[in-house]
Amino acid sequence: MIEEKLKNIYARLFDSFGPQHWWPGDTPFEVAVGAVLTQNTNWGNVEKAIANLKNANALCPVAMDRMSEPRLAKLIRPSGYYNVKTARLKALISFLIRDYQGNIQRMKKGKPQELRKKLLGINGIGQETADSILLYAVGVPYFVVDAYTKRMFSRHGILSADSEYEDFQELFHSNLARDAGLYNEYHALIVKTGKTFCRPRDPLCGDCPLSEKGLPI
Ligand code: SF4
Repeated sequence: MIEEKLKNIYARLFDSFGPQHWWPGDTPFEVAVGAVLTQNTNWGNVEKAIANLKNANALCPVAMDRMSEPRLAKLIRPSGYYNVKTARLKALISFLIRDYQGNIQRMKKGKPQELRKKLLGINGIGQETADSILLYAVGVPYFVVDAYTKRMFSRHGILSADSEYEDFQELFHSNLARDAGLYNEYHALIVKTGKTFCRPRDPLCGDCPLSEKGLPI
């Protein structure tokens, strides 16, 4: 039943919105940097910070590793919390250089569970950021759970809103194929729906593809 419901939701969203072409980024490294920068801000601000890094020819692990913290903080300032994010990026990049010679593609070689554990051990990398890196930069199938996911799936009575991150993730892992392409698209479609219709207050159910007669399916 749950499996069918999750598949039905996906089909409706995909039919309505089409492919979302996530994650926006030219390289896996850019995706990983974006996953840190997007913490507590909107994507428009992340784009400005990424553009600054590109204009400074600094969007690569070696350049960012060598860069002073004040300089890096200045470049990523548009993304907000820039001192905190500078420390997080530095920690992530040190890890990437130390364990993978600065090459995200090398992360694919190890066991995904161990890689996830290592990412979660880095200062400031929580589950959503780790899974965003795993799914969108490395290409391993971990479902990314965010506030949109919790809001939408609780409003549809699938899990309660205060369920843990792991509960939501397990919902997708145990009811859908472990498929990075599917998880990539599904999460992107959830974000699209959350931004367009499933607002924190006054959701626009009547116009949303996940409703029938104005009520959530
Ligand atoms: S807006 Fe309504 S129908 Fe759409 S996802 Fe949110 S609760 Fe469901």
